[in-house]
Amino acid sequence: MTQLFVLAGPTAVGKGTVAAYIRKHFPEVWLSVSVTTRTPRPGEVEGVHYHFVDQAEFDRLAAEGELLEYAVVHGRESYGTPRRPLLEARAQGRLPLLEIDLQGARQVRQRMPDAFFVFLTPPSWDELVRRLVGRGTETPEEREVRLATARRELAAQEEFDVTIVNDDVRRASQELVHLMQQHVSAAP
Ligand code: 5GP
Repeated sequence: MTQLFVLAGPTAVGKGTVAAYIRKHFPEVWLSVSVTTRTPRPGEVEGVHYHFVDQAEFDRLAAEGELLEYAVVHGRESYGTPRRPLLEARAQGRLPLLEIDLQGARQVRQRMPDAFFVFLTPPSWDELVRRLVGRGTETPEEREVRLATARRELAAQEEFDVTIVNDDVRRASQELVHLMQQHVSAAP
């Protein structure tokens, strides 16, 4: 039975916004809180959006096997999924959802092959570029790196069990949660 759901997709597709919508409206879903070495953006809260740690602490967690998966994303900062809270959420019968990048999704596929993998895609490439420029959180150089990563990630879409188009955050979030619920209730 699937007890783990993974949401991946290219930069700026709106994974964070979908995660925020789900956090607010679907208490039955348990959203994993990743550790990261990057600095918080305005409005981000420690323990809610991420656990913000320095590189030494991140390396310690990785070395001690505390992370289910981890990766350097966009060639810069490290991100990883703490293993323990995830196992606790599963034990409590919640629906655990990881919002991670493609490298992380591939690691989870290796370690937990019965997880269910969802790819969030933009309505179009132009729309993705518009969203990335519009949010204005990256320098032009960082944007180029993210767009290069996004091209590679979009090409990996077939590795996923299902694709959801993020044309509207509410609609896409509802589709994702319905899929999760269906998948769990259809399991033997
Ligand atoms: P951001 O810095 O914009 O919050 O996230 C950058 C990228 O890191 C996004 O693609 C996000 O999905 C990914 N990410 C966030 N948490 C994790 C994690 O725990 N593991 C991996 N592999 N990627 C993550």
